[in-house]
Amino acid sequence: MALIVHKYGGTSMGSTERIRNVARRVAKWHRAGHQMVVVPSAMSGETNRLLALAKELAPDKPGKSHGRELDALAATGEQASSALLAIALQAEGMDAVSYSGWQVPIKTNDAYTKARIESIDDARIRADLDAGKVVIVTGFQGVDPQGNITTLGRGGSDTSAVAVAAAIKAAECLIYTDVDGVYTTDPRVVPEARRLERVSFEEMLEMASMGSKVLQIRSVEFAGKYKVPLRVLSSFTPWDIDLNEEASSGTLITFEESEEMEQAVVSGIAFNRDEAKISVLGVPDKPGIAFQILGSVADANIEVDVIIQNLSKEGKTDFSFTVHRNDFQKTMDLLKSKVVPALGASDVVGDAKICKVSIVGIGMRSHVGVASRMFKSLSDEGINIQMISTSEIKTSVVIDEKYMELAVRALHREFDLDQPTDTLAA
Ligand code: ASP
Ligand code: MG
Repeated sequence: MALIVHKYGGTSMGSTERIRNVARRVAKWHRAGHQMVVVPSAMSGETNRLLALAKELAPDKPGKSHGRELDALAATGEQASSALLAIALQAEGMDAVSYSGWQVPIKTNDAYTKARIESIDDARIRADLDAGKVVIVTGFQGVDPQGNITTLGRGGSDTSAVAVAAAIKAAECLIYTDVDGVYTTDPRVVPEARRLERVSFEEMLEMASMGSKVLQIRSVEFAGKYKVPLRVLSSFTPWDIDLNEEASSGTLITFEESEEMEQAVVSGIAFNRDEAKISVLGVPDKPGIAFQILGSVADANIEVDVIIQNLSKEGKTDFSFTVHRNDFQKTMDLLKSKVVPALGASDVVGDAKICKVSIVGIGMRSHVGVASRMFKSLSDEGINIQMISTSEIKTSVVIDEKYMELAVRALHREFDLDQPTDTLAA
């Protein structure tokens, strides 16, 4: 018997029929002797529907100006799906109870629409579990110090589930979703992509932050910090599938790094089309320029990713970095109007048609020459590398957007990640 958290995404909760299936699946786990806490998302499309209503009434107002009301609004989606799940469980003959964030309470700060969880009181959940109940806790929401309802940002139910799992010290947090695990890369780009049975938190963090959209990144950070084993698995298997088979399916995201995981040099190829590159040209090379350029960008609340500064020639250098594509124009304007004149730089140029491709793997720590293998493979394909950045378990390159798929496929092959096709050969 173990204490288990299940999280069900919007698609899994998408209709009464699907909610009934969730209830049956949860009941199966409970009947097998597990103590169950379930964290559902809103029914699919519901959060979008609600936020669109607000937009209709206040088309010109930025969300920030009425964040409190947006959160009160959006949180109803999870309140409804949680109550429906409790009703479905009761209809299956289970003792079940649902709680909204404020009822638990899940305490957050007051950053509306992107609040952060500060603490979770587990007393009520524990008492119900001890009384044999299935406990349902709304995803995505909490309550701030003034008692206002808050939400955790889009996709935030993942983080709710992990935070609840951490608070009650669950044995595992299972994230049921519409994919059957974490893949070596996006199967839509590389059909030979393989599902990973295990991946480390660090690798998952790199992959999640680079556009593998399976989990909200904050949930992975949380899981790593509190050492909550996470499993991503499909909610589309029949609800009555054998429990042991279900419990070992999908991808386990673990903080225990096995030897086998380290042997794979590269675990996955991530890519991201959401960035744009900016270069400030002819910057006088003297102390403080990086700070002057990036400090003003940071002051405008713009996040910077890859950064390079060239060697200087005749006292001048070029300084390049990437930002999110949504911030591209804003950054260009800022640099042109303020930074370039202040620095006495000659110009600023930008390119939004770039992408970042990364190889990720904890095996990179103990293998040498991994990056050069990557560069060779790209050069064999005639792909020009514009920028490079590395960390202990990742090497990223910025390349022309039009070569993205080619690069991902080539690297997937180079690092032996393709699905074995001729198993008969041996
Ligand atoms: N319902 C919220 C959203 O759509 C939270 C979630 O599903 O995780 O973003
Ligand atoms: Mg999600």
